[in-house]
Amino acid sequence: MVEKKNIVLLGATGSIGTSTLKVIEKHSDALNLIGIACNRNYEKLLGIAKKFKVKKLCVYDEETALKARKVAENDLEITTSEEGMIDLATLEEADIILIAVVGVSALKPALEGLKKNKDIAIANKEILVMAGEFIMEAVKSSKGRLLPTDSEHNAIFQCLEGKDPSLVDRLILTASGGPFRDYSLEQMKSIQKEDALKHPNWEMGNKITIDSASMANKGLEIIEAHWLFNHPIDKIEVVIHPQSLVHSMIQMIDGSIISQMSPPLMTFAIQNAILYPNRLSSPDPTIDFTQAMELNFRPPEEDKFPCLKLAKDSLQFGNCGPAAFNAANEIAVDAFLRDQIHFLQIPEIIEQTFHSLSNFNAENLDSLIKFDSNARNLATLIIKELK
Ligand code: NDP
Ligand code: MG
Repeated sequence: MVEKKNIVLLGATGSIGTSTLKVIEKHSDALNLIGIACNRNYEKLLGIAKKFKVKKLCVYDEETALKARKVAENDLEITTSEEGMIDLATLEEADIILIAVVGVSALKPALEGLKKNKDIAIANKEILVMAGEFIMEAVKSSKGRLLPTDSEHNAIFQCLEGKDPSLVDRLILTASGGPFRDYSLEQMKSIQKEDALKHPNWEMGNKITIDSASMANKGLEIIEAHWLFNHPIDKIEVVIHPQSLVHSMIQMIDGSIISQMSPPLMTFAIQNAILYPNRLSSPDPTIDFTQAMELNFRPPEEDKFPCLKLAKDSLQFGNCGPAAFNAANEIAVDAFLRDQIHFLQIPEIIEQTFHSLSNFNAENLDSLIKFDSNARNLATLIIKELK
């Protein structure tokens, strides 16, 4: 019998949120949902509250929170904005907080949760890329653990279990390569939004789907792995694996390679992280080896996907380099989703934002947050000028 954990889910209405609810529903004896947050989709949030009997909710957008309070049952407590998310992340009775919000709004809630010694299951990669150094410092002084929930990082986490870190040589992140992995550069010039939103293997939120198509996602994941596993960037590699069955690998110093496999469904990684160190049966069937299948691997083509190199290089600028990459990418993807720029302009905007910024070093979190906001303003300006 597994000890029951109280879980808070920030980003309950999204793609990771939905997969998490599936895991919680399957294991209601082991997991008790006690707090949920969204940005604006309050109707869906209220539906989740009803189904899972959750009383503490946060609707981040203040105006929407007012609307939600008007229609909600009286016994629900609906908070808003960053404070509301922090209240949930630090709830006395919470054991684990799952960060499934897109973007960087959950940075402070994650840090405050760690201060209160909560376990943090982290699916969100933007906050680790923006503020990995500060998050890892907070982990060191917390009794709470940081549990990797992004599928590649959860795979590496599983592969590393019980290994002496000094015997681990390389971390090898697999990448599906996204919908344009077989496109020529010429074909990439005519990419439409609808093409970029069609991922061949994974069903995810819009932002990460575009990041996967541009391979910015894998760039973010390299930095994410660097922080999570304290591993040097030049020892983290990417390999294209179109089937998305091997979720990542580690290479030991003797050349042996250890991998983790499961279907391309986030329920596997999420369940591993939130039940850790326990294991229970999965809500989804696993890989069936009675059916023939092929596994392919090939190196990525960096000239077609410049976001990959831009992300790797970002650390050389200073400790704010990754924050610049992340901020410019978030703004560029948002502009692409609003039909303001072409797909191939995403890396151009990131590069131009780098060139427009100076002093890439932040001594504390406040100056990092200022840097991030400055990078966002510059990227927005660059897009305006393009038009
Ligand atoms: P979605 O866009 O599907 O969902 C985002 C969630 O975050 C929604 O619940 C949304 O609420 C909420 N949200 C957005 N902004 C805020 C805010 N300011 N405050 C509070 N809540 C907010 O994203 P995904 O689930 O795809 O991704 C979530 C994170 O997980 C991302 O960082 C992504 O990179 C990462 N990830 C996702 C994977 C996937 O398979 N989807 C795989 C690995 C990592 P609302 O519905 O109201 O907008
Ligand atoms: Mg991933």
